[in-house]
Amino acid sequence: MNSNPNKPGGIYIHIPFCIKKCPYCDFYSITEISLQERFISAVISEMNITCNLHFKFDTLYIGGGTPSVLETKLITRIIKTTSSLYKLLPDSEITIEVNPGTVNLKKLREYKCAGVNRISIGVQSFQEKYLNFLGRIHTVEEANNAIRWVQDAGFENMGIDLIYGIAGQTRKSWLCDLAKAVSYKPEHLSCYMLTYESGTPMEKDLQKGCFKPMDEKKVGELFTETVEFLAGEGYAQYEVSNFSREKIFRSRHNQKYWSFEPYIGLGPSAHSYLESRRYWNKASVEKYIKDLDQGRVPICGQEVLTREEMMTESVFLGLRRTDGLDVSEFNSRFDEDFFKIFGELIYDFQKKGLIITNQTSCVLTTKGMLFLDSITSRLVNQGF
Ligand code: SF4
Repeated sequence: MNSNPNKPGGIYIHIPFCIKKCPYCDFYSITEISLQERFISAVISEMNITCNLHFKFDTLYIGGGTPSVLETKLITRIIKTTSSLYKLLPDSEITIEVNPGTVNLKKLREYKCAGVNRISIGVQSFQEKYLNFLGRIHTVEEANNAIRWVQDAGFENMGIDLIYGIAGQTRKSWLCDLAKAVSYKPEHLSCYMLTYESGTPMEKDLQKGCFKPMDEKKVGELFTETVEFLAGEGYAQYEVSNFSREKIFRSRHNQKYWSFEPYIGLGPSAHSYLESRRYWNKASVEKYIKDLDQGRVPICGQEVLTREEMMTESVFLGLRRTDGLDVSEFNSRFDEDFFKIFGELIYDFQKKGLIITNQTSCVLTTKGMLFLDSITSRLVNQGF
């Protein structure tokens, strides 16, 4: 099964610079921001190599890292070059991730002039002690200012990112964070459960017993409370960690990752997915620049997904979304009968209150979402 060629694709550009590394983060980024001009020239070289694709695109997502550490003229250059080299449709969603402490009103206005129409702000918490625990560079005041400036600059599509499950966080303090975020009426909210990724400084501290993590049951309770609280405030969940005020404010770009639509990723460590082939770039700014300076593509790995792998991903990605797994689409894509293969297990999950199903879709309940990984692995282990 191929990526859906009839749907417009997405373009992701990874800006691999941060002022300081947050101890929980395992995204590729470096703090040597003096390389930015050379890096952008390399991205433009990569665009020139990859722009002959037959796809149309309707999203451009500038993520990272911290894209807002770049000089604004470089962001403008990226957007202009993307628009001139790729078939970027006129109503495209153009997102940039920003971090408080790295933006001001002037910069945000310039983003708007450059064509950005969606801002995603990495706030993570509205409480100093948790920002400190997460090693963020910004204060609560800077987070509040950044949100106001986004609104003052006239953006009509703003997303706020928050993290829960932080050591020492209470139910009350998390609900305060949510209430504060909602008070700004953002169009979109992402609420991520703190995870301890292997090899990160925070995971090492956890192993050494430097702090006591929140217990899993309590984290699960916060997840359930998040879904309920936000529903009460008019934010519908559409994916495990994502909520929007209206359907049109769902992240068009991120939905591509969950629905087999094609996307290309530019920049170090960025992944692309085209016609069942997934490939990814080297996770090194220096090697990325060197390759492109010498006219080479900076790809370091690729895989062509087998039919079984595609089926596994279909189940996993479908169940992440509140629209659920589209059973008829699965059947026609793979020429299979979903319920014939999985009927018994699905019925078992349904009895346990983990899945709701009819003949056309399978949707995880809020409780089921907490067990997404184990539900998927039980389905997959049963075999196709
Ligand atoms: S700012 Fe974002 S990308 Fe950079 S280290 Fe922190 S979490 Fe990771």
